[in-house]
Amino acid sequence: MGFQSQIREALSDLERAGLLRKPLRISGPQGPEIEIAGRRVLCFCSNNYLGLANHPALAEASQAAVRTDGVGAAASRLITGTMDAHQDAELACADFLGAPAVALFSTGYAANVGTLQALVGPGDAIFSDALNHASLIDGCRLSRAEVHVYSHRDVDHLDSLLRQHRSRARRALIVTDALFSMDGVRAPLPDIGKLARSFDTGLLVDEAHSLGVLGPKGRGLSALHNVEADVVVGTLGKAFGVAGAFIAASKEIVSFIQNRARSFVYSTAPPPMLARAAVAALELAREADDARATLLAYASELRSELRALGFDVPEGDTQIVPVLIGENHRTMELSAKLLDRGIFVQGIRPPTVPDGTARLRLTPMATHRPEHIQRAIGAFASLVRNP
Ligand SMILES: *Cc1c(COP(=O)(O)O)cnc(C)c1O
Repeated sequence: MGFQSQIREALSDLERAGLLRKPLRISGPQGPEIEIAGRRVLCFCSNNYLGLANHPALAEASQAAVRTDGVGAAASRLITGTMDAHQDAELACADFLGAPAVALFSTGYAANVGTLQALVGPGDAIFSDALNHASLIDGCRLSRAEVHVYSHRDVDHLDSLLRQHRSRARRALIVTDALFSMDGVRAPLPDIGKLARSFDTGLLVDEAHSLGVLGPKGRGLSALHNVEADVVVGTLGKAFGVAGAFIAASKEIVSFIQNRARSFVYSTAPPPMLARAAVAALELAREADDARATLLAYASELRSELRALGFDVPEGDTQIVPVLIGENHRTMELSAKLLDRGIFVQGIRPPTVPDGTARLRLTPMATHRPEHIQRAIGAFASLVRNP
């Protein structure tokens, strides 16, 4: 069989398994309401938790930056230098978190693969939560360190793996999401922090979904629990509504990463307009306590109302509300039915989640109105009446 037909075959395998993904076409900006094929629907699946993606202050900051700094960054910063906009964004991120230093990356994916590959290598060990984000998993693989995967949020299992394997490794690093984005549950950071100290390992906490939303002034879960992570990863494309990411750490770690993370060294720096938009977003996010409270109240309302309708909604107290369905085709069918009723909720299937746990993942936004939440609940209620 030729190469082209092998790929065609692989593609039909995906389709048969209910795993083929086809992005919908969206016109206009991302917001609580979006336009799909000329029709306004309510969006309940974005990570634009605070509604900043289309905020006028961010648009203005980007436009002003295009006039002063142009569009492209021209090369890696190690070649054409750190532009003022990059410097200002790094200072703003460091200030937001109260961190000594920050390195800016083009995406969270690039931040994770680059950071893990830089910090640990052959002869080292990584201890990684079983449900960590794909970019952390890929970073673990790329690092060529020995990877020990502990059961999801299982501190006893982590403890036993550390006992077994820590001493043989030169450097060791515990790696976890702070808020697991497909389940909406938190990592047991205080206990993990204690284990990191007692086994003398580094700790990397990926706060992609928690920054801007949880913790004091949106500073995330390590700030909430006073856990001193060696590296905090934050993304700018989720609650902050822009694109890009950063790692916050000591000056030495940041400097090392800027020298050794291949996704930093060998990749064009983020466009200055995005760096300027990020500065504007961080300023707004810091003062967004009301929006955070609204967002979490919406999530809690969705959780309890959908449970009352008989849906399988796991316990949680974050902005992410998973509705477990199980089977892939059924999940996508329900997603399509909700869209017919004007509610856009994406189905999440393997390999993003474990086999047999396909789900609808609802995420409200602080900029939804109360009647939007009621419409979403109404659409789920009509699924119960007409399954
Ligand atoms: C989304 C996400 C990333 C990747 O960030 P991007 O900026 O979208 O590439 C990394 N880690 C976690 C936990 C995420 O949820």
